[in-house]
Amino acid sequence: MTKKLIAGNWKMNGGLDANQALVLELLAGIGQPACDVAVCPPAPYLGQVQLLLAGSKAVELGAQDVSRHESGAYTGDVSAAMLKDFGVRYCIVGHSERRQHQAESDVHVALKVQRALAAGITPIVCVGETLREREEGMTEFIVKRQLSAVVHLNGHCISEIVVAYEPVWAIGTGQTATPSQAQQVHAVLRAQLKAATEHAERVRILYGGSMNAANAAELLAQPDIDGGLIGGASLKAPDFLKIVAAAG
Ligand code: PEP
Repeated sequence: MTKKLIAGNWKMNGGLDANQALVLELLAGIGQPACDVAVCPPAPYLGQVQLLLAGSKAVELGAQDVSRHESGAYTGDVSAAMLKDFGVRYCIVGHSERRQHQAESDVHVALKVQRALAAGITPIVCVGETLREREEGMTEFIVKRQLSAVVHLNGHCISEIVVAYEPVWAIGTGQTATPSQAQQVHAVLRAQLKAATEHAERVRILYGGSMNAANAAELLAQPDIDGGLIGGASLKAPDFLKIVAAAG
């Protein structure tokens, strides 16, 4: 069975001192986790966090975004090769905050996934519906459309990705999807992956959206929930460590 993955998305939070304190507290408390664990700091701190994690096998480094271009005149972009230089193992791609605020389309997301895979970085591909889309009964259609763009461009190595189902209405709101609501969508995504690859069972499908120390165990017990993408709760070491323990 594939190990679960718990990944912390720090978003645009932190600073040199806060990052150091957080990573040291995580490393002091994590022991030998039964699941894979990653933290995704903002890009300017990747080098700092890489050094702090050096020598630890328990926590790996992730990034929050990657350019869809290989190199060149793309001011502000960070390429997959640059992330690789800093030991990045995972990269969040297509987070709803980027789809919403940076106008990232399904095609952009698919191209970013392609760049990450080509550099040997595992993309964590985020999909999820807004509240309005859920209320209109569009949830399945939306997540399938988002994932199918990625499958279309990356079909040959689709089993190398991680998927994160993150209902937009649950992100940062404290309003978590119920375990059965989440499982229902995860099953739809698993079926879609099964149609694309015979290795669909080994693709980890994470849940994200107000997962915390109190609700993690029940969500992670669902058959198609293979881990979590954690925002707010990843900034507090004790909470993040409890989620990691719940995934064991
Ligand atoms: C996220 O941003 O990926 C996320 C899941 O945030 P939160 O846990 O704060 O809802």
